[in-house]
Amino acid sequence: MKSKDNNKKPAADIKISRRNFLKGVGVAALGAGLAASVPLTISELRPKRGNSIDDFYEISPDIRRFDLRNNVRSRASWDQEYAARVREAQALSAEVVAARTRLELAFMTATGVVMGAYGNPLQNWPQDHNGGILSWRPYRMRFFPPDDMPIWEGSPEEASKLVKRFAIDIGASDVGIGPVDPRFVYTHERNGMPIEFSDSAKIPEVVRRANGESAEVIPTNMKYAISVLSLMPYEMVMCSPDPVGASVSQLGYSRGNYSVAMIAEFIRALGYNAIPMGPESTAMRVPLAIAAGLGEGGRNGLLISHKLGPGVRIACVFTDLPLQLDHVVDFGVRKFCDTCGLCAEHCPVGAVSHEPMTWEGPNISAQSGIKRWYINAEKCHLFNSSQSSTCLNCIRSCSYFKPQGFWTHDPFGITVAPVFGGRLMSTLDEWMGYGKKLSQEDYWNKPV
Ligand code: SF4
Ligand code: SF4
Repeated sequence: MKSKDNNKKPAADIKISRRNFLKGVGVAALGAGLAASVPLTISELRPKRGNSIDDFYEISPDIRRFDLRNNVRSRASWDQEYAARVREAQALSAEVVAARTRLELAFMTATGVVMGAYGNPLQNWPQDHNGGILSWRPYRMRFFPPDDMPIWEGSPEEASKLVKRFAIDIGASDVGIGPVDPRFVYTHERNGMPIEFSDSAKIPEVVRRANGESAEVIPTNMKYAISVLSLMPYEMVMCSPDPVGASVSQLGYSRGNYSVAMIAEFIRALGYNAIPMGPESTAMRVPLAIAAGLGEGGRNGLLISHKLGPGVRIACVFTDLPLQLDHVVDFGVRKFCDTCGLCAEHCPVGAVSHEPMTWEGPNISAQSGIKRWYINAEKCHLFNSSQSSTCLNCIRSCSYFKPQGFWTHDPFGITVAPVFGGRLMSTLDEWMGYGKKLSQEDYWNKPV
C-alpha cells in the first residue's frame, strides 16, 4: 500500500480546526452509539495483569537468543551484500544532507551529545556499550561508600520503592521492574564478543579465556531488569521525519543513558552489582519493558507504554539487588492494532506490516519465535540511511500518541481505545488532525 506520508509534501498544521473538531464530535457521537451497543463490563475495561510475559504473548519454546551482529546497524561490518545496499542508500542522502541549514545541524548534533559521548554503540564511539558511564564496573565518583561499609539491606518491596523513587527524581518518565529473561539477552555484542551467564561469577565482567578469546559474563544471580522510559517531546516527534523529528530519538537515548548510568551507580553504591544499557547493547529493550509491566507491543514494533504511549525510548539496568517484580499488563493494544493500522499506512517504505501477526520476521534482523507484528528493519534502516536521519512516522501517526496532559494515556488506553476500537478511533484521529506532520517553522514558533 502506498504511504500516506511523503518527505517532500508540504507540512500540514497540527492545529485542530473548528471544522475538524465538529467532524470529530460527529464521529465520536456515532462511535458512542456503536459502543453503547457493545456489552462491555467495567472489569473488561481494566488492564489485565499477569505474572509473566508468557501470560499474554505466544512465545515459541524454540525461540533463540538474538545475535546483535544481525542487527541492521551491525550487519554492514560483515554482510557485504547488505553493506552495498547501505552505501547505495547513503549515496542518496547527499542531496538531503547538503540542503540542511545550520540551525538544523545544530539541533541534530546537540541532541546526540550525551548519547554519543557516553558509550553508545550506534555512534561507534570508542566507549562501546560496556564503557564510559555505561560501564559494567562502578564509576566510583566522590562519595562512593568505602568497601568496608556494610551493604544496604532491606526487603524487595523497600528496594523497589527506593530505586523507583530515585529513577523518577533523576528524570526518568516511568520505571518498571521485570525479570532478566535470557531469551531477550543477545548472544553476542555487536563486535562479536559472546554474552554468557555464569553461576560462579560474582561480578559482571569481561573474562579472557586461555585460548585468548574474551566473553562478557553476567552472574546468574543478576535476576532483575529495571526498565526506564524517557518520554520524547510531543512537538519534536510531530516533525518526523524532518531534522527536528529525527533528533528526538537521540534526545530520548541521551536521557535514557543519563538515567541508567545514575541508577546503576546508585545500586552499586548500595553494595550490589548493576549493568546499565542503552540502545542496542546487551539485551532487547522492548520485551524487557513489556515484562516490567510498562506497556504492550504494538503493530509498529514498539512499546506502547500504558502511561505514556509510544513516544518513549527505553534503557535498562540489570542487577542482583533483590527487587519486587511488577505485573505484566494487557490493556488491549494488540486488539486495537488489529483494526487500526495507521502506522503501516504512514510508513514511507512499507516497513510496518499491514498483515496479521506472524511467528517469523521478514529477514535475519528480527528475533523470530514470538507471535507479533514484525517490522522490516532492513527497509526502515535503508530509508533512514537514505535520509541520514531517523524517521518516527510510526510513532507520530499512532492513535496512542497524544499530547501529555491533554488526552492522557490512562483514560485513552484503558477506556476510550477499547470501546471505540482501532478502525473507528484511527478514523476519528485522522479527522481530528492528529498524526499530521508539524513544520519546523511551526515547531520553532511554539510558545516556550
Ligand atoms: S521509523 Fe521505520 S518503520 Fe517507522 S515509519 Fe519510519 S521507516 Fe517506517
Ligand atoms: S498506529 Fe495503530 S496499529 Fe500502529 S501501533 Fe499505533 S495503535 Fe497500533
